[in-house]
Amino acid sequence: AKLLQRSGHFYFSRNMGVDIRERVRTMHALRSALEDRELFVVYQPQIDLTTRRPVGAEALLRWRTKDGSFIPPDRFIPIAEYSGLIIEIGEQVMRDACLELVQLNALGFRDFTISINVSQVQFRHPRFLDTLHKVLAETGAPAGRVELEITESIAMEDPDALIRLLEQIKQTGVSIAIDDFGTGFSSLSYLQRLHADRLKIDRAFVTEITHSQRGSSIAEMVIQLGRNLGMSVIAEGVEDERQASILSALGCPLAQGYLFARPMTVDQLRTWMNNNGA
Ligand code: C2E
Ligand code: CA
Ligand code: CA
Ligand code: CA
Repeated sequence: AKLLQRSGHFYFSRNMGVDIRERVRTMHALRSALEDRELFVVYQPQIDLTTRRPVGAEALLRWRTKDGSFIPPDRFIPIAEYSGLIIEIGEQVMRDACLELVQLNALGFRDFTISINVSQVQFRHPRFLDTLHKVLAETGAPAGRVELEITESIAMEDPDALIRLLEQIKQTGVSIAIDDFGTGFSSLSYLQRLHADRLKIDRAFVTEITHSQRGSSIAEMVIQLGRNLGMSVIAEGVEDERQASILSALGCPLAQGYLFARPMTVDQLRTWMNNNGA
């Protein structure tokens, strides 16, 4: 028994050691990736479910290493947050997305919104608002066409400070979407105080809507909630026609997912917009 315990302990600490070493390695790699411009932004169109026309796009970060392999954001963003690199990376994403918005405007796509994911580490940084002002001024992006996606988990911390910050952001003209909505536990009365502009129904609930009556109840509730609170609603992760038609029937105005378009590079987005937009 003693031996087992010891070997158990051995495996445990060895695995932890590997994990930490791996994280430190990724952190160093990420720092040089930033310098070497291995990080870039792709865009996934967002669609009006009634007209099936694009209304905007979400900016999503990609990391392509020198050997050509991709590291998924779910793996490196937590490390970027943990190391603080997300501040610099996040500003870069914001700048790229705003520049792309200006480009699309110049191509004649004017009623188009860019949604930018903002990590809670970025959001809590004391200079966040300054950075937003600076990027808007330097890129000349129309603030009214820029949306920030924050998760419900950000929304749960320090409500009063958050509400103040959101008010200041809204004064710039930039709008706010609550991402992955329904996966957190924020109270509905709190949601009401946030005055967000849009709710994003998490993919998990979209996947369930074709499974059963019960499965569609959360999506249905979010759509209803959005309508009652005067917020726009978008469903993410829509992969097939059945999901799209159920969402449409439930009154969901907007959607995003592989059914319509996958995330694409700026060049691909411009071509795609020429074929599908306006
Ligand atoms: P998210 O914000 O919830 O983004 C949606 C994810 O779903 C994206 O994964 C997107 O590519 C994927 N997706 C879109 N449509 C479909 C679909 O029809 N089916 C399926 N199965 N997936 C779909 P991605 O690009 O791998 O990003 C993963 C997460 O990483 C994002 O989740 C977001 O939390 C984070 N992330 C990505 N880019 C950024 C960024 O610039 N900043 C920050 N802070 N986080 C980011
Ligand atoms: Ca998002
Ligand atoms: Ca999401
Ligand atoms: Ca999600």
